[in-house]
Amino acid sequence: MVTSEFDLIARYFTRSSPGGQRALLGVGDDCALINVALGQSLAISTDTLCAGTHFFADADAKSLGHKALAVNLSDLAAMGATPRYATLALTLPNVNEAWVASFADGFFALADAYDCELIGGDTTRGPLSITVTVFGELLAHNAFRRDAAQSGDDVWLSGTVGGAALGLAHLQQKLVLPTTVADRALVRLHAPTPRVHLGVALAGIAHAAIDVSDGLVADLGHIAQRSNGAAVLQWERIPLHPTLLAVAPDWRQSCALSGGDDYELCFTAALTAREAVEAAARSSGTAVTRVGVIVPKGAGMPNVTVNDEHGQPLPLARGGYDHFAAA
Ligand code: ADP
Ligand code: MG
Repeated sequence: MVTSEFDLIARYFTRSSPGGQRALLGVGDDCALINVALGQSLAISTDTLCAGTHFFADADAKSLGHKALAVNLSDLAAMGATPRYATLALTLPNVNEAWVASFADGFFALADAYDCELIGGDTTRGPLSITVTVFGELLAHNAFRRDAAQSGDDVWLSGTVGGAALGLAHLQQKLVLPTTVADRALVRLHAPTPRVHLGVALAGIAHAAIDVSDGLVADLGHIAQRSNGAAVLQWERIPLHPTLLAVAPDWRQSCALSGGDDYELCFTAALTAREAVEAAARSSGTAVTRVGVIVPKGAGMPNVTVNDEHGQPLPLARGGYDHFAAA
């Protein structure tokens, strides 16, 4: 039994990284100390997962440990940064050691996979909430800024989209799925793969990037808006998660275009970089698909248009029914 907060930290969150300690000073003092490699910049990002808002209170602890770190690593990937360090602020309603042990298992399995060292955090009592901050290294001029898309760029997407949203719809009992389909969709929701290797491989090749956490149209819309352009996608090119084949076309579209939580990378790159993008995809073992283009923004044009096979824009949120639109 742990007898104090310090005991809990010592038992579950203090360990030597398999890759060896990179930080000058890690868990256990007032601050951690790190050195940044000469010429590199630190990319820093924080994300919080709250019980009730981001996950159900009874969610599996190991999955939560994985996801809390995965969503943060995904932000580093969307910048093209290499993960180095993380901090973890954990608020727990009570000390359930089995829960903390599973959570730590999920967290460290992913941290080790991407060689990301836990160097500190905070542990408090209160409604369950998990905040992770990640620190990655990159060359500042290679960062995939949201305002860096250029007119004429291709728009690319890693992996597939829509699976996580389908899993969420299933949990919310918005639709009924065969068990095998539901299980596959839930893996996408609970255990996203941050596209870290792809992000790093695209350094110097991609212009702008974002990770798809809120939905493809919404997230790509940020790139288009910040870059003063418009994105035009072709629906039939969008790589759908295989589970979407089991549902009706309106669900397929809602999940793929408006559903979040897939944590795929959506990025832009020059037409002349197509071969380089394909090579980066191969070297990082990640599938990528060219789904559209960035064009100059005409008057009255939406940030993102998705055309059907006849070149007709799909009725997105306005007009068409969107299962994931804000109420
Ligand atoms: P302080 O009172 O100086 O903030 P704490 O008692 O909160 O220190 O934490 C003691 C040490 O344990 C610090 O180095 C802190 O970074 C680390 N720590 C606390 N909680 C966690 C956690 N959940 N994961 C990793 N490190 C933690
Ligand atoms: Mg503290």
